[in-house]
Amino acid sequence: MQLDVLGISVHPDDVELFASGVLMMEKLKGKRTGVVDLTRGELGTRGTPELRAVESAHAASILDLDVRENLGMADGFFKNDEAHQRLLIRAIRKYRPEVVLANALEDRHPDHGRAGKLIAESCFLSGLRKVETVDADGRPQEHWRPKYVFHYIQDRYYTPSFVYDISPVIERKIEAIKAYSSQFFSTEYGADEPQTYISTPEFLNSIVGRLQMYGKMIGVAYAEGFITEKMIGVSSLDAFVQKDT
Ligand SMILES: [Zn+2]
Repeated sequence: MQLDVLGISVHPDDVELFASGVLMMEKLKGKRTGVVDLTRGELGTRGTPELRAVESAHAASILDLDVRENLGMADGFFKNDEAHQRLLIRAIRKYRPEVVLANALEDRHPDHGRAGKLIAESCFLSGLRKVETVDADGRPQEHWRPKYVFHYIQDRYYTPSFVYDISPVIERKIEAIKAYSSQFFSTEYGADEPQTYISTPEFLNSIVGRLQMYGKMIGVAYAEGFITEKMIGVSSLDAFVQKDT
């Protein structure tokens, strides 16, 4: 199946936290959307990989994704090398997305920056004819380069290249984040598990605060921020939303 927008995240929950609003907004416009997770998040302090898989399937249904796939790379120890790039190129050529939403290029968690670079380089290499790959049935794949790779902004603050109004889907976004009840603050889970940086109520508040701050920049209630290394082109001034600010 060809997708219009593909979210790629190193940990199941990165997309929910930082780019799920755009996936839902695009889905509402009739686009096909999906998520490829690079790892199962098996180094997460709380919960288990099995529980995380159940949570990510639940989140996928809230986001109304057409597909979600996990590439099973090693959390914490995957590399940006040929073997990992080839694995990801196979997935990019399988789904042939126009736009990829990728991890940040630099962040607090080193996995995020390494994944951001792995994704950006794999999207480029996927467009080269002479990089040959085969699909799951051993058939040669066609080369494919997404038009854009937009990096979502994660823990560290960066000034976005653009922000996307996600106000209409904010409630579903919070619901999708809360689907990861082992990871984030929940009154129903984990009283006996260690608290982490992301399991406190303050962490979730900070996510919403960031969305509000990006929203305020364009005069809407909530927005997600993205960084692009490639110039954005528009063919209509209608593409801009700027309320009175
Ligand atoms: Zn992460």
